[in-house]
Amino acid sequence: MDLRHLPSVDAVAGQADAQALIAQFGRQAVIEAIRADLADLRAGAKNGGAPDGASGARIVQRIAVRVAGQFALGLKPVFNLTGTVLHTNLGRAPLPAEAIAAMTAAAGAANLEYDLESGKRGERDDHVEDLLKRLTGAEAATVVNNNAAAVLLVLNALANKREVPVSRGELIEIGGSFRLPDIMARAGCRLVEVGTTNRTHLADFENAIGPKTALVMKAHASNFVVRGFTAAVAEDRLAQACHARGVPFVIDLGAGSLIDLSAHGLPHEPTVREAFAHGADLVTFSGDKLLGGPQAGIIAGRADLVAKVRRSPLKRALRIDKVTMAALAAVLRLYLDPDRLRERLPALRLLTRNLADIRAGAQRLRAPLAQRLAGWAEVSVVDCASEIGSGSQPLQSLPSAGLAIVPVVARGRGGALNRLARSMRALPVPVIGRIEDDRLVLDMRCAEDEAALAAQFAQLAPPA
Ligand SMILES: *Cc1c(COP(=O)(O)O)cnc(C)c1O
Repeated sequence: MDLRHLPSVDAVAGQADAQALIAQFGRQAVIEAIRADLADLRAGAKNGGAPDGASGARIVQRIAVRVAGQFALGLKPVFNLTGTVLHTNLGRAPLPAEAIAAMTAAAGAANLEYDLESGKRGERDDHVEDLLKRLTGAEAATVVNNNAAAVLLVLNALANKREVPVSRGELIEIGGSFRLPDIMARAGCRLVEVGTTNRTHLADFENAIGPKTALVMKAHASNFVVRGFTAAVAEDRLAQACHARGVPFVIDLGAGSLIDLSAHGLPHEPTVREAFAHGADLVTFSGDKLLGGPQAGIIAGRADLVAKVRRSPLKRALRIDKVTMAALAAVLRLYLDPDRLRERLPALRLLTRNLADIRAGAQRLRAPLAQRLAGWAEVSVVDCASEIGSGSQPLQSLPSAGLAIVPVVARGRGGALNRLARSMRALPVPVIGRIEDDRLVLDMRCAEDEAALAAQFAQLAPPA
């Protein structure tokens, strides 16, 4: 191609369609896209590329796609039909309307650290501390960015350069490379391994506690179970042993449910209140697991220990922002009305959804989806199993129902399934299912908004 025939940047930018793009996205982004496209054309020409595509109109078509891609939302809503309700990669707990409204309200200037009565500086934690005290029975509480940060902060503030005995059965990895031994090293404390992988006894701890011990830590084995010849020390006995020696007992609870989930027909998960009843001096837990709120890490317990944690310079580095604080406070307030909690807190509502309702939803959506995929795949309503997610109760499944999609191809079904899953992910509101047993299964537990999901199905084209 003759490079002299390439239009100039100004000539392309002068086209009416390019002007419309400039009005929408701004001059800089459009000019950069034109330059990049012309550079591609020049590079193509050097390699003997064909001259077609070098017209001003074609260039504008391409830069429209390029610029729109740059301005499209990267982080966007999806339909979580994976069956994992608190899916870490899909943002864990969906927030209630009350939290979303509070986040919007706090988005401008807000009294985050400002006491409106005195007109003086206030405490960030003031927005949630009383609520947390009331809901957990703790004397005091503080909040950081997530539970991994809470564990790091507690260990650094209370055990720097000192020893922390932990059972070998609880040297956990949570995923996303959160490993307790690594966090302890980063926090500057010395891990003292106690007992064995399958069995740890009280005497093991008693022998490990000495003058250099800063605290004893128990990590809730949330994402795995040890079965067979096992022994773990009961929390109340371990707490007693710690207290007899003047050493704080800290429990990293992980999910940290605030209510007894068995009252809602779910597997029982240790609550924060129970941890205190067993004698914990401090408890750390996540805001976005079973609590059902925004990503946050909560440190609750003895007032003197919380005060020490709060004074640590690390606290400043790990603090949460006003928007998260607003959401957390709104979610905690929902817990003050237990009678309506299930109805208002999406995480709890989804985890406790009635199987008949889930199945009825699947039945209503089967035909519209089958129609879109007619001749390409068969869609049926199936029983399936959801899980809580975020490492909670990994062996317990929740009976659920969904749509199973099976491509009608003689061979290469795996490839067809992958193409279908990709088409679903490419929808304006991506639909994320899971491939199992040679089918794409859409677990309908979290498909509360059927109309919105049907609108996505209506835009689905059978993959080529
Ligand atoms: C999930 C979990 C963590 C990490 O919490 P994040 O909020 O994800 O940072 C730490 N400890 C335990 C026991 C957990 O289950």
